[in-house]
Amino acid sequence: MYLHGKKVLVIGLGKTGVATVKFLLKEGAIVSATDEKPASELKDAFNALRNLDVNLQTSEQSIERLSEIDLVIPSPGVPPFKSPLYEAVTKNIPILSEIELASRFLKRQMIAITGTNGKTTTTRLLGKILEKAGKKVFVGGNIGNPLIDYVSGKQEDDYVVVEVSSFQLQWIKSFRPFISILLNVTRDHIDYHETFEEYREVKERIFKNQIEGDLAIFNADDLLSMQLSKRFQAGVMCFSSSSRQTKGIYLDRKVLLYNDPSSSVKDEQYPLEMIKLPGVHNVENVMAAVLAARRCGCNRPDIIAAVEDFKGLPHRIEFAGQKGGVKFYNDSKATNVGATVRALETFSEPIILLLGGRDKGGDFRVLSWPISEKVQELILFGEAGKDIKSLVGGRVPTKLVASLKEAILLAHKRSSSGDVVLLSPGCASFDEFVNYEERGRFFKEVVRNL
Ligand code: ADP
Repeated sequence: MYLHGKKVLVIGLGKTGVATVKFLLKEGAIVSATDEKPASELKDAFNALRNLDVNLQTSEQSIERLSEIDLVIPSPGVPPFKSPLYEAVTKNIPILSEIELASRFLKRQMIAITGTNGKTTTTRLLGKILEKAGKKVFVGGNIGNPLIDYVSGKQEDDYVVVEVSSFQLQWIKSFRPFISILLNVTRDHIDYHETFEEYREVKERIFKNQIEGDLAIFNADDLLSMQLSKRFQAGVMCFSSSSRQTKGIYLDRKVLLYNDPSSSVKDEQYPLEMIKLPGVHNVENVMAAVLAARRCGCNRPDIIAAVEDFKGLPHRIEFAGQKGGVKFYNDSKATNVGATVRALETFSEPIILLLGGRDKGGDFRVLSWPISEKVQELILFGEAGKDIKSLVGGRVPTKLVASLKEAILLAHKRSSSGDVVLLSPGCASFDEFVNYEERGRFFKEVVRNL
């Protein structure tokens, strides 16, 4: 792709936007960049771009000049209905996401992982397995180190493993991983994608440019994915926590069984106890990673050793302490209802569930049955608390409070030895916190001081 002399507008000046600006300048493009935030909140970006020849604008200025722009690169999460991206769409100006741009300069084989939930866990785990097997690997994407930074460097790794979100897949054209994984699709980001069908279609784009010889990894327990798998040219392998897979991997009581007829591997066993992460959803993540790892030539002992070593990530059903026989878990990263459902599945103890925050268009009715089955008491908090109460409140004793702190203190008061207090909010954090990490740290801090 030839960028020299091209007029490019980068929308959004977070980490990815800044990295994109730098890359474009290196390629000789004439770069403008814009962000809806006021300059006072963009200090990091301004510092990083100081002394570089980039035209930093407010959104309003860039709309006027949009007709002169050859290419627009929106940062992940910039909605298409907001200026100036909206104007770029209506004026038919070419739009590419950062991963699309980066992939055009990528020289290494790429494995991409998407899904509503489990992306970060699976991406990190696969990175660890590949490393254990002696491969050199770059792990990045949506996870914090943008792919565009990687392609600016030497590209000396054997594999590139990237987590990709629906926002990033929205503006791809030729992005083609040699292995693509779709972990699951449940309702999320309806405030951005408008309908579930649109959200799902965007996720499925991870497979659309794959060709014969590539590998598409699907969740066999997701019926829509299975229909989809018939439409692609890539080879298909599936994972399942409920049914036998002759080409893929499945959970059979205490063991995972891997089958690959193309290399005559039959019922290769992986003990369930190698997995140190809680819940069947994490078994699914592990199975997806194993399929990709086997395809990259990793052997069984290395895979088992890496999975055994992997203790999980903070804010994902993370043990946060025990007080008076009550165990507290921080699942602040559960920012949608699907993740909360899986968290509830994980425990056999009576649960006091802390649910709430900022709603992203979640379907809380999906929680009715799991709440009736698993939850002893429901404590709702934050902006969405009242609406959630009208949808699922009353099935079990339900309390509505204003803040997360009040929710934790009330849960502590109402709990007794043997209970689990679980923060698995099913909502975004932005009504009270900067992000899910700050919310999770706050939860742990309050629990520590109980
Ligand atoms: P992502 O990067 O897709 O947000 P994470 O690995 O960070 O995924 O996990 C986010 C949340 O989803 C956590 O609450 C975690 O417990 C839950 N989760 C992880 N894997 C799965 C899965 N396969 N299905 C459903 N929920 C999951």
